Amino acid sequence: KSLPYFCRGEVVRGFGRGSKELGIPTANFRDSVVDNLPADISTGIYYGWACVGNGDVYKMVMSIGWNPYYKNTKKSMETHVIHKFKEDFYGEVLSVVLVGYIRPERSFNSLEALIAAINSDIEEAKMKLELPEHHKLKDDNFFTSTA
Ligand code: ADP
Ligand code: MG
Repeated sequence: KSLPYFCRGEVVRGFGRGSKELGIPTANFRDSVVDNLPADISTGIYYGWACVGNGDVYKMVMSIGWNPYYKNTKKSMETHVIHKFKEDFYGEVLSVVLVGYIRPERSFNSLEALIAAINSDIEEAKMKLELPEHHKLKDDNFFTSTA
């Protein structure tokens, strides 16, 4: 099992699926980061910790899914950091640790249902990450030794 899984990479533009308009922006990793994912990290929603550049470490939820831009032949990793940032951080290095799995990917009948599911994922992430064994990953050297 590959969790916890640490990785970092530059934040690139996504495909304008309007996550930000939903109030839930998702930062996309470049393909090289996605290509390095271990095979046993399946698609779905994960929770963990994230930091932008040398900034503070925040809770996050990540969707790993099939990327429509590549006709669903390539995965994408989209991280929503549970923090209000003053500015976008395209081009900056995002460091994350995937701590646990929440649920598989699924489609929704309405935007309202999708937003409700994401908000419940966020609540679950917040709660799970309070566990002492998960909280200590927040202080991992990985986040202080940003190259
Ligand atoms: P895109 O299609 O380019 O991914 P989004 O609407 O998903 O556009 O917005 C993602 C961008 O928003 C990120 O790349 C980042 O620069 C910015 N951003 C601001 N706040 C956050 C946050 N809390 N979590 C993730 N990204 C954020
Ligand atoms: Mg996005």
